[in-house]
Amino acid sequence: MAFAPVRVIVVGGGTAGWMTAAALAGLTGSACSVDLIESEEIGIIGVGEATLPHLRAFLERLGIDERAFMHATDATYKLGIEFRDFGRVGDRYIHPFGTFGQPLNDVAFHHYYARLAHAGGVPPIGAFSAGVTAAEACRFEQPGNDPNDPTTSFGYAYQFDATRFAPFLRAWSEARGVTRTPGRIVSVERGLGERIGAVRLADGTRIEGDLFVDCSGFRSLLLGGELEEAWEDWSHWLPCDRAVAMPCESPPGPIEPFTRAVAMPAGWRWRIPLRHRIGNGYVYSSSHLDDGDATEALLAALEGAPLAEPRFLRFRAGRRRRSWVGNVVAVGLASGFLEPLESTSIYLVQAAITALIEHFPNRRIAAVDRDGFNATIDAEYDRIRDFLILHYHATTRDDTAFWRHVRTMAVPPSLDDKISLWRQTAQVAKYTQGLFLEPSWVAVLLGQGVLPHGWDQRADLPNAGGLTRAFGGLSQAIAARVAAMPLHDADLLRA
Ligand SMILES: Cc1cc2nc3c(=O)[nH]c(=O)nc-3n(C[C@H](O)[C@H](O)[C@H](O)COP(=O)(O)OP(=O)(O)OC[C@H]3O[C@@H](n4cnc5c(N)ncnc54)[C@H](O)[C@@H]3O)c2cc1C
Repeated sequence: MAFAPVRVIVVGGGTAGWMTAAALAGLTGSACSVDLIESEEIGIIGVGEATLPHLRAFLERLGIDERAFMHATDATYKLGIEFRDFGRVGDRYIHPFGTFGQPLNDVAFHHYYARLAHAGGVPPIGAFSAGVTAAEACRFEQPGNDPNDPTTSFGYAYQFDATRFAPFLRAWSEARGVTRTPGRIVSVERGLGERIGAVRLADGTRIEGDLFVDCSGFRSLLLGGELEEAWEDWSHWLPCDRAVAMPCESPPGPIEPFTRAVAMPAGWRWRIPLRHRIGNGYVYSSSHLDDGDATEALLAALEGAPLAEPRFLRFRAGRRRRSWVGNVVAVGLASGFLEPLESTSIYLVQAAITALIEHFPNRRIAAVDRDGFNATIDAEYDRIRDFLILHYHATTRDDTAFWRHVRTMAVPPSLDDKISLWRQTAQVAKYTQGLFLEPSWVAVLLGQGVLPHGWDQRADLPNAGGLTRAFGGLSQAIAARVAAMPLHDADLLRA
């Protein structure tokens, strides 16, 4: 039986709103019509510049040309995130997009690495990652096609100007039939039960829909506001609740193909190099630092002249208990927030869009679709939450009240279990859904100085001398391959 197209109303025109509109227009055929409402008066959050490799798949699925996207958004390539001063002041490591080394006899590389690291004299694990080695050398080229070749296989993402992505997607979406209604929603009409029937704009326009995608940002106009879906607060685990952001001119020298996160006395500071400027911000806990001191610390760290006044953002870590209620699906900040330490928010937008398309309803919404969607989003949030807490908790820092608090606080049992499994066995808990698989946990655990006491016993089989020589050969092969790559800037010039 053919169903009439579902009338989808997207509320909000930030990154979440336009990504949703683009995906529905590009990927659902004639299953729906899409109208997007956005208020120019309210505007968009305008931060959110570092991404994960999944965004590449998003653009590819829609047939968007990478170079056109990079031009339009002043994007650079991103090979990972460098963390400084997290495990201990003076420490640094890069969490790359990709694996370390190669498995041997079905045993993951990091088990052999753990064995050698205990004996001492092995370089940081980044030496066995093409992504880390290229990031450190400021070099970039498209990765190779053979996932088993550790000298050419790595993932990459983008760093882009957050104010340019939504307009880029808007043009793309409007060309594919999405309609846009500018205006501020001032009231909401309820349908039966938990359903929304229509929204009304300040100029009196009434817009009806079958499915409302709430992309209204932190306001969470429909899900949090109208439907009053409960908020699950995670600020006891992730106490940072403020950020001050300020772009600056780029310093002379190469453009780094990575984002930097520097631990600060009451949080951490981001540095995101774009083609035309550097994005900077200090994410902090307002219980430990006031806005004035945060701004001063950020200003002191800038590497070039500031390009704007400081902007302050307030948030809370957590999420709405359910992201899809009645005929409202929240995507982006309207559904929850986890701080940008691992650049996960735009990924969460994408995960919600993918789940929505998989569970795309007809005009009568089936509970099974809604529940399936909510279960997926729950898993995504929970996994990211644990991974973020790890960066704070796995530290030996005790130099400020903030670091003493996060080092000693109780963490979710799911994270406690993961850390003890790692310490005892060098294993990373496996899961099929959600972000951050084994290599990411390995990167951060080792990077923050959590060396396991045990490992897969098969890693003890090769003789130590042979293993050390094989490790040396591998890191040299990666270094030689990377030395032949063009500089990141040179690749950008071609883009
Ligand atoms: C400090 C900070 C740093 C971040 N850094 C990163 C990062 O590096 N990487 C990353 O992936 N993410 C990051 N994020 C998150 C990222 O910015 C967001 O996930 C992303 O921009 C999506 O935002 P949004 O579209 O949900 O909300 P917004 O951009 O706030 O858009 C909301 C939209 O709703 C509209 N609206 C609201 N109310 C109404 C109304 N009444 N009527 C009509 N329209 C309305 C607004 O006009 C706007 O168009 C960061 C967030 C913060 C706070």
